[in-house]
Amino acid sequence: RKTEALLFSIAEGIIMADREGRIQHVNRKAREMFALAADADLEGSLLVDALPDGPLRYAMIAVGQSPGKSFKEVDLSEEQTRLYVRVSSSAVVSPGRAAELGIVYALRDVTLERELDKMKEDFLHYITHDLRNPLGSAIGFLDLLLKGTAGVLNPDQHSIVSSIRRSCSRLMGLINNILDIAKMESGHVRLALKETSLAGVAGRSIAILESLAKQKDVAVHLVAVEEFSVNADADMLERVFTNLLGNAIKFTPEKGTITISIVDEGPNVKCCVEDTGEGIPPESIGRVFEKFEQVQNNRRGGTGLGLTITRFFVEAHLGRIWVESEVGKGSSFYFTLPKNLVADADGGVRLAEAVR
Ligand code: ADP
Repeated sequence: RKTEALLFSIAEGIIMADREGRIQHVNRKAREMFALAADADLEGSLLVDALPDGPLRYAMIAVGQSPGKSFKEVDLSEEQTRLYVRVSSSAVVSPGRAAELGIVYALRDVTLERELDKMKEDFLHYITHDLRNPLGSAIGFLDLLLKGTAGVLNPDQHSIVSSIRRSCSRLMGLINNILDIAKMESGHVRLALKETSLAGVAGRSIAILESLAKQKDVAVHLVAVEEFSVNADADMLERVFTNLLGNAIKFTPEKGTITISIVDEGPNVKCCVEDTGEGIPPESIGRVFEKFEQVQNNRRGGTGLGLTITRFFVEAHLGRIWVESEVGKGSSFYFTLPKNLVADADGGVRLAEAVR
C-alpha cells in the first residue's frame, strides 16, 4: 500500500513493463501525460498497443532499447500551454537477484528548466550586445587619448590610460566569448570562406598579443616555411590562434618560450602552439575543451570558454584539435585544417573531392 501511495503521488510519470513489453503499472502522472482515463485497466497489455501513438510513445520505445543509457526530450507544447517531458528508462531488478525483470520508464516534466534556459539565453544575448556597444566606444576614445589627439599625455597619464585600455580589451574578450558560445549553441554560425594565409593569420595574432608576451618576457616564434594558404574563415582562425596563444602566454612563467609552427600534412595543414609553461595534469587533459572547464587551483581569470570556442571554430572547418602536455614541461595544442574546404549549397562547408 505504501509503494502504491508513493507511485500515485510522485511528480514523475512512471511506467513499468515486463521483459516482453507488457505493462505492469502506469501511475497517475503518466496517465495524465498520455491523456489516459484514470481507471483504464492497462495491466498485461503491450506498451505499443495500450499507449496512444505519438512522440511520447516513440521516445519511450527509443530509450527502452538501452535502459539506463540515454534519455529523450519531447516537446508536447500546445498553443496555450508549454510542456517538455524528459523520458528515461532503467532496468528493473529486485535486490539480490541478477536477472532483469523488465524496464521502468520515468517521464519527467522539465518545462520549467527549458523555460529558464531560454530566459538565460535571451538575457545573455541582450546584455552582451548592450555591453559591447558602449565598451567599444570607450575603447575608441581611449585609443584617441593614447595617440595624443586630445593633447600629449605625460608618462604617468599614459601608463594609467594604457592600463584602462588593457582592462577594457579583456572585458571585450570575455563578452565576445559569451556571445560566441551563445551563437554556437543556437547553430547560427556561417563560415565566410576565402583564400587565407595561415602564416599571415598567425603573425597577426602574435602582433595582437605582443605586448602581453613582452610584459612577461616570453619569446614568441613563428615557424612556417611558406604562407600555407587554405580556404577558411580568416576571422575565426584569428580567434583560434589568439585564444591558443593567449592561453600559452597566460600559463607560461617569465622568460618562457612559445613556438607557433605550421606544417604540411598531405590533405591537411597542421598547426601547433607549443609553450614551456606549467602543463596540464593528466586528470584534467580530457576536459579542457569542455565549457567552463578550468584546471583546479589554476585559475588566472578567464571563463573556461576560450578552448570550447576554439574547438568549435576548428571543427566548423572540419578540422581536428587536441592537446599533449606534461606537467612542469609545457603544453602543445595541435589543430588541423583541410586544404580543400568548399562552401556547399546549403550554406555549410564540405571537402572538395580532390586536392588541387
Ligand atoms: P580560460 O583560459 O578562460 O580559463 P580556456 O577554455 O581557454 O579558458 O582554458 C581552459 C583551461 O585549460 C584553463 O583554465 C587552463 O586551466 C587550461 N589551459 C589552457 N591552455 C593552457 C596552457 N597553454 N597551459 C596550461 N594550461 C592551459
